[in-house]
Amino acid sequence: MEARIPIIVGNWKLNKTIAEALALVTELKNQLASLRRVDIGVAPVFTAIHPVVKRLDGTNIGVAGQDCYWQDRGAYTGEVAASMLADAGCRYAIIGHSERRQLFGETDENVGKKTRAALDAGLTPIVCIGETEAERDSGETFNRIDAQLAGALDSIEPHEVDRVVLAYEPVWAIGTGRTASPAQAQEVHEHIRGQLRQRFDHVADSVRIQYGGSVKPANAENLMRQPDIDGGLIGGASLAAADFVAIVKAAHLAMGS
Ligand code: PEP
Repeated sequence: MEARIPIIVGNWKLNKTIAEALALVTELKNQLASLRRVDIGVAPVFTAIHPVVKRLDGTNIGVAGQDCYWQDRGAYTGEVAASMLADAGCRYAIIGHSERRQLFGETDENVGKKTRAALDAGLTPIVCIGETEAERDSGETFNRIDAQLAGALDSIEPHEVDRVVLAYEPVWAIGTGRTASPAQAQEVHEHIRGQLRQRFDHVADSVRIQYGGSVKPANAENLMRQPDIDGGLIGGASLAAADFVAIVKAAHLAMGS
């Protein structure tokens, strides 16, 4: 099996005007232009996607939507179709982020439909899964992960699962400054890969599983060195060019050793 190429994506959430987004990606483009063998992405708000795509044209940095809808068109006020993200030049779509699940009622079933739609639109879905603190404390972590995986991957065939990226994001570590230790994260990543193996056999070894939850320049390399961690989904630290660049470089370094 070829080594999995790590993938680092910045989830900007509800931050950055178009002007601010362009300033940030111009920095990233200048500082990361020569980096190979690591996939890099940024997820601006919908209104900044197209200008950011244009600014990053021809670079090694892809653009992600922070969500998508499974219908292509119709009476669905406020939604943006996966196919429209592709039309705007996106390469990725983040799906099932815990904030969407907790604040906007995203269900495991909807995550499955969005994952299907993203693949059909030619996008790489980045599917977020992870347990809450209460679920971890009551020993439910693996059960929750398994249910989320089942929902997300319900309609995915073995020949296409390696186009899906999973992001393990323990909810208690998102935006809290609390990071899962490398060993805690690896334990869950290994479990996820085991589940993928049961469903998809050896193809599971090609699927990339990002870690997300308070990743910073200081902890990135140790996390990325874990055998089943293949990059990161970065929230707060992706809003400052220096931090995001340092995390991308840490992932690159961890892969090379
Ligand atoms: C996220 O929002 O996906 C995330 C991991 O946030 P943070 O890095 O800020 O914890």
